[in-house]
Amino acid sequence: MRKKNVVLEKIPVSGYAAEGKALARHDGKVIFIEGGVVPGDVVDIRLSKNKKDWAEGRAIHIHTYSDKRAEPFCEHFGTCGGCKWQMLPYSLQLEYKQQQVADHLQRIGKLALPAMDPIKGSRHTIHYRNKLEFTFSNRAYLTAEEIKDNEGVVLERNALGFHVPKLFDKVLDINTCYLQEEPVNLIKNTVREYALAHGLSFYDIRAQEGWLRNMVVRICTTGEIMVNLVIHHENKKNREALLQHLLKTVPAITTLVYTINPKKNDTIFDLEPKVYYGKGYVEEKLEDFVFKIGPKSFFQTNTYQGEVLYQVTREFAGLTGTEIVYDLYCGTGSIGIFVSPQAKKIVGIELIREAIDDAKENAARNNVQNAHFFAGDVIDICDDAFFEQHGQPDVVITDPPRAGMHEKLVSKLLQIAAPKIVYVSCNPATQARDLALLDALYTVEKVQPVDMFPHTHHIENVVLLKKKLLAVSH
Ligand code: SAH
Repeated sequence: MRKKNVVLEKIPVSGYAAEGKALARHDGKVIFIEGGVVPGDVVDIRLSKNKKDWAEGRAIHIHTYSDKRAEPFCEHFGTCGGCKWQMLPYSLQLEYKQQQVADHLQRIGKLALPAMDPIKGSRHTIHYRNKLEFTFSNRAYLTAEEIKDNEGVVLERNALGFHVPKLFDKVLDINTCYLQEEPVNLIKNTVREYALAHGLSFYDIRAQEGWLRNMVVRICTTGEIMVNLVIHHENKKNREALLQHLLKTVPAITTLVYTINPKKNDTIFDLEPKVYYGKGYVEEKLEDFVFKIGPKSFFQTNTYQGEVLYQVTREFAGLTGTEIVYDLYCGTGSIGIFVSPQAKKIVGIELIREAIDDAKENAARNNVQNAHFFAGDVIDICDDAFFEQHGQPDVVITDPPRAGMHEKLVSKLLQIAAPKIVYVSCNPATQARDLALLDALYTVEKVQPVDMFPHTHHIENVVLLKKKLLAVSH
């Protein structure tokens, strides 16, 4: 019988599984545990799922703390969904990520692996993001202690910060965030204080009303800073006063834009940001390549490690100047542009038309003349006529979203049979699934995980596949 409300007591945590869940073994079962526990902790677990071979639950009490634990550095740790692995020393985070990649490739992919190179850790473990989106809300998340300690006091319910995991309408008011360098906290806190002092309304997500909605801040290694303030409707007087105050307080901002979003959803893709100050975009550099990033452009969020990721990709591609290289899921064309000096020709494909427009502009800015970009779904574009027209690839670079490649694309790649495939992935589970299919024709030659997101469980992994030398049958 599967009883409800089962609590397992004093269970030693032994490791990590996918998606940042911790792992224990009990009574021949694998238990997946949520709730910020660390291998070496001894915990009580309330089960939410209890199956024959496995169970899932949340740690409700920690009896013994692991000696592997580190002291979290952020005051918002535990509530904020951002940097959930702060209680693990960085070296251990890297070890677990490396292990995850190996596990996935072996268990899901059932692949024979070459010796894996050790994961490339991030040079910066804080202040590594170039983009953050803060949310305004009139429903600040309050902890149980805050409510208890302030009985009878009316607490400030306007917040500017991040959504609290699993609570769609609650926003955690963030004081100091370590994900971006200063002056980003100054920007955020300046806007919040001004808004509170002047009675500007923070968005009410349930009632769909209120003026201030979101604020996206980009800070580049070039020193350029862009702020995009998203408001529900135009109010010229209030908007100009707020933006003027922000610019005066933080003169380091190089461009200030605003977007009016009267819609129910938060996406600004179908909206037109307007420039209040500066050129309306920022420029970021990877090696000597310069990329233009507008308010709607996609760009790798960790510039330092983005560069490392592309260097690994370029090395795996092993280009000599004569190759036709396909860059699938190319986004704004950054990988293709990055490897273009070593290739004869780059063919980039991406679903979002605006990203392709950016890719073309970025190629032109960097004086890259051998790159060609096409907008559309990879499975529609990559047909026989397309390959005939643009040339059979010598190297295919593929960098799909978390869901991995569509099975039809994998079949097409098997049919096209390029000598090399470089598979860049932000989800080693779907990567392993795709590699298992590609195993019919390809051997895994190299595996290189790269850590783009310190203090989170997210993993980026690059794999080099080489075509097998198949015996010709007579
Ligand atoms: N290689 C890029 C971006 C990779 S993110 C970089 O390094 O910056 C994955 C990209 O795949 C996204 O830009 C997304 O828009 C695109 N995408 C998702 N599904 C797609 C599909 N079916 N066909 C083409 N592109 C797709």
